[in-house]
This record gives sequence, C-alpha cells and structure tokens, in this order.
Amino acid sequence: MTQPERVPSSDRPMVFRGGTVLTMDAASTVLTDADVLVVGDRIAEVGPRLQAPEGAQEIDARGGIVMPGMIDTHRHMWQTAMRGYGADWTLTQYFVWYYLEHGRKFRPEDIAAGNRLAAIESLDAGVTTTVDWSHGLSSLDHGEAAADALRSVPGRFVLAYGNIQAGPWEWTADPAIRSFLSGLKDAGDDRMGVQIAFDVTGDPAFPEKAAFEAARELGIPVTTHAGVWGATNDDGIRLMHEHGFMTPETIYVHASTLTRDSYQRIAATGGSISVATESECSAGQGHAPTEQVLQYGIPVSLSIDTSVWWSGDMFSAMRATLNADRMAQHMDAHINGDTITHLRLRAQHVVEWATRGGAHALGRDDIGALEAGKKADVVLIKNDDSPVSFPLLNPFGQVAFQAQRGDVHTVLVDGRVVKFAHKLVGTDLPAVRREVEATVEYLRSELGEDAWQHGMFPEMPAAEAEILANPYQYTDYEDESKRAGGAERVLGR
Ligand SMILES: [Zn+2]
Repeated sequence: MTQPERVPSSDRPMVFRGGTVLTMDAASTVLTDADVLVVGDRIAEVGPRLQAPEGAQEIDARGGIVMPGMIDTHRHMWQTAMRGYGADWTLTQYFVWYYLEHGRKFRPEDIAAGNRLAAIESLDAGVTTTVDWSHGLSSLDHGEAAADALRSVPGRFVLAYGNIQAGPWEWTADPAIRSFLSGLKDAGDDRMGVQIAFDVTGDPAFPEKAAFEAARELGIPVTTHAGVWGATNDDGIRLMHEHGFMTPETIYVHASTLTRDSYQRIAATGGSISVATESECSAGQGHAPTEQVLQYGIPVSLSIDTSVWWSGDMFSAMRATLNADRMAQHMDAHINGDTITHLRLRAQHVVEWATRGGAHALGRDDIGALEAGKKADVVLIKNDDSPVSFPLLNPFGQVAFQAQRGDVHTVLVDGRVVKFAHKLVGTDLPAVRREVEATVEYLRSELGEDAWQHGMFPEMPAAEAEILANPYQYTDYEDESKRAGGAERVLGR
C-alpha cells in the first residue's frame, strides 16, 4: 500500500502524468501514456511527457483515465433531499406527490438542503457542471436559497429557475424575479449560469407565450420538458416554433413522445435534446430518443433528472443510454425476424454526449474537452485497489460500462481540487447531513406517518400480483386439496 498522498495545492500548476487521456476534442482523440498540464484555471497543454513549469505538482495518472469533467444538463437538485424515496414511482405518482400534494410544503431551507447535497454528489461523481432544473421555487426566497446553496459548493452550476406551483406567465412577470434572474446573468460568473425552466402544455391559447417573451427580453435560454407521454406533446413544439421561440440555446428534455415533424423543427432550429434515459426507462415519458437524435442530426446531452428515483452520476446515465438504445435496436429487428449484427450506438457516443455534448447544449465552448486554453475541469478515473481497473483496453467502454463513482480519484473544477485520492476536499459532509435530516424530519411530520409511508410504497396493481397457473409445476395452486397432496408427496409420505 502506498502512503496517503497529499492534496495538491490549487495555487500551483498541476500535471497529470502518464494517463490514458480522453481529450473529447472534436475528433475524440485518445492519447495513451500522456500528460495534462493545468495552470491556474486553464488547461495549458495536453500531450506526451510535457515540460512542467517550476514548482508544478505531479498527479500520478498511470493506469487511469483522464477526461473532461462530465456535464449533466437536467437535474431537479432540490429533490435530492428525498433521495430514493420514489424508487418505485411512475410519472403519475411523481406528479401527484410533488406537483399536487407536497411540493409546496418545501421551504427555502429544504430547497437549499437538497441542492447542496446534490451539488456535492455531482462533484464526487466527476460531474463538474450541473443544470439545476429548479422547479420548486414557489417564492423568490426559495430562488435565492437555491442559488446560495449552489454557490456554496465549488462546482459549475446553471440555475434553471422554475415554479410548478404557478403558471410560468405569472412568475416571469414578477419584477423581483426578473431582476434576480438578470442579476444572475449580469454577474458574468462562469461557475453560475442561468436558464428559465417551464413546460408547454399545448393549450391552443399558448399562455406560455409571455414566459418565452420574458426569457427573450432577459436574454436567458429556456429549458423545457418536451415529449413527455400524457403531459407535453407535438402541440407544444409547434406553438413554440410558430411563435419563433425555438432557438439554438433551447434545451428539450426527454423529447421522447414526439413525431417526425417535431424532431425536424428541433433539428432545423438548432436546439438540443437532453436524454435522461434512467428516467425515460422507468417513469414512462416514452423511449429515450437516441435513434431520433442520430437520425435527425440533433445535438444531444445526457442528464440524470432526479435522485428521488435515480442515481446522480453520469456513469449510470451512459450505461442506461447504451442499454436502452441497444434493446430498442434488437427488439425492432426481432419483431421482423431479423438479427442485429452491428450496433449503431457506441460507448464513444455516450462519452461524447456526457462531455462536449453538454458543453454544446449550454453554449460553452470552453468546457467539455481537454484542450489547451479550455477551463480546467478535469476528472481522473483511477482505482489501483479495484480489480475492475485493468486491463484497460477500450477506454470508452471502460468509462461507459466498467467505471463507477468510487473510481473517481481526482476532480478539478476551474483548476481547483475538489476531490483527491477518492475523497472530497473541503466539504463538511456532516453539516450537509444535518441540514438534510432536518428537512426529512420536517416533511415527514408535515405529511404524517401514513401519507409518508404510502407515498414511498405505492400500492401494487392487483391484477399483476397473481402468479399464472403453470402446467409444468408440480404443485397446482388452484386446487387446495391437490396442493396438500403435493406437499405430502414432496415429504415422501
Ligand atoms: Zn425533469
């Protein structure tokens, strides 16, 4: 066992030595036995055996993978305070719990608690930029608490301001909220971006028009849940397009249940789709539109959606996306009696989507790749104690199917060390735990124990609980007398 290594100082240059470097440049160039030099908040150089400046600190990357920090373009971070609570939910149960029944119970400090935990969790998993799709902001106090919590964590975030408890045409008309949003934008803080987050119902009167106009006046991009089965559909896309609100910076989250016409409108106007496959697979928005983004040439990024159900790391997002696309490709062929011999979606694709795809979606050409001059958001995946760390043959396959958050050794954001030797740096996790526990305790008492338990464990559909009769099984479940006889035979009587 080697001695514990010292956390490198963020004030001096750093050089990652001898790693497999996934540059994620335009050609997705991979360098083996290569170095990445970081000076200040920037990547100074990438290549073999770099000359490091005087006083540079070396990080041993041998046996590991150096890649750009990953980018999650849609995550309801406030919901991390309820981690895992909705593991068995459908989208309907989610809507009832958050939108109709309990979402309005969250106080500003509850939003902050969830955000802080989610933000720290992102860094731990090598996700250096996260869009906080913050739709629980039922007052400006909530909005300020959300932003303050994100600012307290040394990652890169985008606050996508939203409020499901009121129409977007209402809250975007509020002068105080407008001035808060333009304040965030004008601050020019490249670790804190801003978007406006709301959905378009498809109502022919298009009440969301005023919210789009507000976004345009403020110069802030819109992110919207599109193509969500039973909630949003082609009508919303058509209304946006007819009114000129589909722009290159618009992000369409899920975009699952849409037709060719909508995908063509998205492709033609240059916006991007945020695929949240773990979510689409289990909540019911529709199938992840991976085939469509390839078919229509739509830029794509990946996202996690919410930790009230799912994991908060992009390894899971990449893996789920490959699995879902491949299942669809195989099943489509099987229906026709055919066999797929060559897969269309590769591990390299999902690593691209999780890095420079996210950067493109956010209009950031200075992140998402390891190239000289870009921001130093760097991840080292390396775990010498893990039997899964070797042999390292296919680096994209290693990232997409083999690696996990525990293998994230070092994370830099803006040249600052936020994780090193598998441990978060400068994070007071016990304090965050206390905040989250206070939120859970408060919500649990507000709901009452029955509603709390019922919310977490929804009833099983009765019809599916029955086990079908099976002619090959020794015991006949439908006949009690035979069942007793069967038991006797088994016991040899
Ligand atoms: Zn969502």
